[in-house]
This record gives sequence, C-alpha cells and structure tokens, in this order.
Amino acid sequence: MKTKSWSDYLWIASAIYLVLGFFNILFAWLGMICFITPLVISLITGNKGYCHKYCGRGKLFAILGTKLSRNKPMPKFMRTPYFRYGFLIFFMTMFANMVFTTYLVFAGTADFSEVVTILWSFKLPWAFANGTSVSPWIAQFAFGFYSVMLTSTIIGLVVMILYKPRSFCVFCPMGTMTQGICKLKNRGEK
Ligand code: SF4
Repeated sequence: MKTKSWSDYLWIASAIYLVLGFFNILFAWLGMICFITPLVISLITGNKGYCHKYCGRGKLFAILGTKLSRNKPMPKFMRTPYFRYGFLIFFMTMFANMVFTTYLVFAGTADFSEVVTILWSFKLPWAFANGTSVSPWIAQFAFGFYSVMLTSTIIGLVVMILYKPRSFCVFCPMGTMTQGICKLKNRGEK
C-alpha cells in the first residue's frame, strides 16, 4: 500500500479555508497562496507540480467525488480550448473587476460593502464575518477574493457531481494558466 505523504491531506486545508470565511473574512487572504504558488511552481519548474501534488481543492473534489459523482464524461464542448480559454478570460475579467472595486474603496470613491457574491450575481450579506478593524480596502479585497474562491468551489462541486470528480480541473483558470506557462517555458528551452 502506498504510504501517504503530508500533501495527500491538503484537501483538509482547502475545506478549512472555506469554513474560516464564515468566521473572519480576513482569512480569505490566505487564498492568495493558491493563486501565487501554482504560477511560481510552473514558472520555476516548467511543470504542473502544483496540480499533480499540492492542490487541496483538486484533492477535495477527488475525495468527495468518490461518493457524490455520477462519473459521467463531460460534454465535449467543455473540453475544448475555446471553453477553457473563454472561462479563463471571463474569470480574470471578474477578478480584475474585484481588484478595481478594492481600489475604489481604497481611494474613497466607492462604499465598502460587506457582501459575498456567489456566481458573480447573488449577493449574500456577510457582515457577521467582518470582526476585525482593518482598513476597509483590506476587508473589501477579502470579501471579493472569498467570493471568487467560493464561486469556483461551487462550480467545481456542481461539475464534480454531474460529471467526473475532477472535472473542474479541465477548465480551472489556474490549471489553464499554469499549462500555458509550462508550454511557453518548455518551448523556450527546446
Ligand atoms: S487544475 Fe485547478 S483545481 Fe485542478 S489541480 Fe490544478 S489548480 Fe487545482
């Protein structure tokens, strides 16, 4: 039997991260680790080591999927580069919009808003998790970033149930970006 390594338990960190957002929104900043680490690993090594070994979210989908997934193949269109890159562009546009909103709050030209937005549409009041007094822009980024993380997890869970456990990995923006970096890096080294 294969001995488990510490990285096999990173799904617990991903699950705890989502729960912490209900207690103090500032924990959302920790999600930046999942944003920066895959990019750094692929830039340095030219491979998708983060996806293969360290991504807690991918592991979480794999574990939950053993019980909850219908294990059906994804529709063909969702596996095309058009869908993958289209989702990446959409996702990054929404991310940039969130960063811009944070900037507006920082500049004092927009009101600080204590909401978590699910699927870029549904605003949930989340003031109960804003217990620390920090600059409003710091908390605003946390609300925005937690919205991004929660939304992508919900999408991942839905496709996990409908299709195969790790279906989200097919069009995950981080996976698409790291794949692009690896392609560029390996092309340059040939
Ligand atoms: S593709 Fe995305 S969800 Fe899947 S392992 Fe990579 S970073 Fe994690």
